[in-house]
Amino acid sequence: MQSSAPQSTRNCVACGRSIAWDANVCPYCGHDFRMVMAPVPQKKESAMPVIGGILIIIAGLIELVVGGVLMAGGTVFLGLSLGTSGILVACGAVLAIVGIIALLGGIFALQRKHFGLAVLGGVLGLGGWFIPGLIGLILIALARDEFHD
Ligand SMILES: [Zn+2]
Repeated sequence: MQSSAPQSTRNCVACGRSIAWDANVCPYCGHDFRMVMAPVPQKKESAMPVIGGILIIIAGLIELVVGGVLMAGGTVFLGLSLGTSGILVACGAVLAIVGIIALLGGIFALQRKHFGLAVLGGVLGLGGWFIPGLIGLILIALARDEFHD
Protein backbone atom coordinates (compact mmCIF):
# COMPACT_ATOMS: atom_id res chain seq x y z
CA MET A 1 0.00 0.00 0.00
CA GLN A 2 1.57 3.25 -1.12
CA SER A 3 1.04 6.21 1.20
CA SER A 4 -0.04 9.54 -0.22
CA ALA A 5 2.76 11.60 -1.76
CA PRO A 6 4.19 14.52 0.27
CA GLN A 7 2.69 17.89 -0.54
CA SER A 8 6.05 19.21 -1.75
CA THR A 9 6.06 16.99 -4.82
CA ARG A 10 3.66 16.01 -7.55
CA ASN A 11 3.75 13.69 -10.51
CA CYS A 12 4.55 15.10 -13.92
CA VAL A 13 1.48 14.78 -16.12
CA ALA A 14 3.71 14.05 -19.13
CA CYS A 15 6.21 11.47 -17.85
CA GLY A 16 4.70 10.54 -14.48
CA ARG A 17 7.86 11.11 -12.44
CA SER A 18 7.84 12.87 -9.10
CA ILE A 19 8.90 16.52 -9.39
CA ALA A 20 8.91 19.58 -7.12
CA TRP A 21 5.40 20.90 -6.47
CA ASP A 22 6.24 24.40 -7.67
CA ALA A 23 8.39 23.38 -10.67
CA ASN A 24 7.50 25.27 -13.83
CA VAL A 25 9.26 22.80 -16.09
CA CYS A 26 9.71 19.06 -15.54
CA PRO A 27 13.49 18.34 -15.12
CA TYR A 28 13.04 14.88 -16.67
CA CYS A 29 10.98 15.41 -19.80
CA GLY A 30 10.89 19.20 -20.09
CA HIS A 31 7.10 19.42 -19.92
CA ASP A 32 6.19 23.08 -19.39
CA PHE A 33 3.55 23.37 -16.66
CA ARG A 34 3.08 27.09 -17.20
CA MET A 35 1.03 26.17 -20.24
CA VAL A 36 -1.23 24.10 -18.03
CA MET A 37 -1.36 26.75 -15.31
CA ALA A 38 -2.40 29.44 -17.79
CA PRO A 39 -6.10 30.30 -17.56
CA VAL A 40 -8.30 28.03 -19.61
CA PRO A 41 -9.48 29.95 -22.67
CA GLN A 42 -13.07 31.16 -22.33
CA LYS A 43 -15.71 29.45 -24.37
CA LYS A 44 -15.61 31.01 -27.81
CA GLU A 45 -18.14 33.79 -28.07
CA SER A 46 -19.47 34.77 -31.46
CA ALA A 47 -21.29 37.93 -32.44
CA MET A 48 -24.41 35.91 -33.20
CA PRO A 49 -26.30 36.56 -29.95
CA VAL A 50 -25.43 40.27 -30.20
CA ILE A 51 -26.60 40.63 -33.80
CA GLY A 52 -29.66 38.47 -33.13
CA GLY A 53 -30.43 40.45 -29.98
CA ILE A 54 -30.19 43.79 -31.78
CA LEU A 55 -32.49 42.58 -34.59
CA ILE A 56 -35.05 41.37 -32.06
CA ILE A 57 -34.80 44.59 -30.03
CA ILE A 58 -35.55 46.60 -33.21
CA ALA A 59 -38.43 44.23 -34.05
CA GLY A 60 -39.79 44.71 -30.53
CA LEU A 61 -39.44 48.50 -30.83
CA ILE A 62 -41.40 48.47 -34.10
CA GLU A 63 -44.19 46.51 -32.39
CA LEU A 64 -44.09 48.89 -29.46
CA VAL A 65 -44.34 51.94 -31.72
CA VAL A 66 -47.09 50.44 -33.92
CA GLY A 67 -48.94 49.32 -30.80
CA GLY A 68 -48.60 52.79 -29.33
CA VAL A 69 -49.88 54.41 -32.54
CA LEU A 70 -52.86 52.01 -32.60
CA MET A 71 -53.64 52.81 -28.98
CA ALA A 72 -53.30 56.54 -29.56
CA GLY A 73 -55.35 56.38 -32.77
CA GLY A 74 -58.00 54.28 -31.13
CA THR A 75 -58.20 56.70 -28.25
CA VAL A 76 -58.55 59.69 -30.60
CA PHE A 77 -61.45 58.05 -32.44
CA LEU A 78 -62.96 56.69 -29.27
CA GLY A 79 -65.81 59.19 -29.42
CA LEU A 80 -66.60 58.45 -33.08
CA SER A 81 -67.03 54.69 -33.02
CA LEU A 82 -66.58 53.13 -29.65
CA GLY A 83 -66.68 49.48 -30.78
CA THR A 84 -64.06 49.61 -33.51
CA SER A 85 -61.66 51.90 -31.69
CA GLY A 86 -61.98 49.76 -28.57
CA ILE A 87 -60.68 46.82 -30.56
CA LEU A 88 -57.98 49.08 -31.99
CA VAL A 89 -56.85 50.09 -28.51
CA ALA A 90 -56.91 46.48 -27.35
CA CYS A 91 -54.88 45.32 -30.38
CA GLY A 92 -52.45 48.16 -29.84
CA ALA A 93 -52.05 47.24 -26.18
CA VAL A 94 -51.44 43.57 -27.00
CA LEU A 95 -48.94 44.51 -29.72
CA ALA A 96 -47.14 46.88 -27.32
CA ILE A 97 -46.90 44.17 -24.65
CA VAL A 98 -45.63 41.67 -27.24
CA GLY A 99 -43.11 44.29 -28.33
CA ILE A 100 -41.89 44.80 -24.76
CA ILE A 101 -41.41 41.03 -24.30
CA ALA A 102 -39.54 40.87 -27.63
CA LEU A 103 -37.41 43.82 -26.47
CA LEU A 104 -36.55 42.04 -23.21
CA GLY A 105 -35.77 38.83 -25.13
CA GLY A 106 -33.40 40.80 -27.35
CA ILE A 107 -31.68 42.29 -24.29
CA PHE A 108 -31.29 38.81 -22.76
CA ALA A 109 -29.77 37.65 -26.06
CA LEU A 110 -27.22 40.48 -25.86
CA GLN A 111 -26.31 39.30 -22.35
CA ARG A 112 -26.29 35.63 -23.44
CA LYS A 113 -28.68 34.60 -20.69
CA HIS A 114 -32.22 33.23 -20.36
CA PHE A 115 -32.05 31.39 -23.69
CA GLY A 116 -35.73 30.43 -23.49
CA LEU A 117 -36.83 34.04 -23.01
CA ALA A 118 -34.49 35.22 -25.78
CA VAL A 119 -36.11 32.71 -28.15
CA LEU A 120 -39.58 33.74 -26.96
CA GLY A 121 -38.66 37.37 -27.64
CA GLY A 122 -37.42 36.40 -31.09
CA VAL A 123 -40.67 34.59 -31.89
CA LEU A 124 -42.78 37.50 -30.64
CA GLY A 125 -40.61 39.95 -32.57
CA LEU A 126 -41.52 38.24 -35.85
CA GLY A 127 -44.77 40.20 -35.86
CA GLY A 128 -42.91 43.49 -35.98
CA TRP A 129 -40.12 42.84 -38.44
CA PHE A 130 -40.46 39.37 -39.91
CA ILE A 131 -37.32 38.60 -41.95
CA PRO A 132 -34.75 40.36 -39.71
CA GLY A 133 -36.56 38.97 -36.67
CA LEU A 134 -36.34 35.48 -38.14
CA ILE A 135 -32.63 35.96 -38.83
CA GLY A 136 -32.18 37.14 -35.25
CA LEU A 137 -34.05 34.08 -33.97
CA ILE A 138 -31.88 31.74 -36.05
CA LEU A 139 -28.69 33.45 -34.86
CA ILE A 140 -29.76 33.02 -31.24
CA ALA A 141 -30.68 29.38 -31.80
CA LEU A 142 -27.26 28.75 -33.40
CA ALA A 143 -25.56 30.39 -30.43
CA ARG A 144 -27.40 28.16 -27.92
CA ASP A 145 -24.09 27.00 -26.37
CA GLU A 146 -23.03 30.57 -25.63
CA PHE A 147 -25.96 31.17 -23.31
CA HIS A 148 -25.36 30.84 -19.59
CA ASP A 149 -28.54 28.89 -18.92
ZN1 LIG B 1 8.04 14.98 -16.99
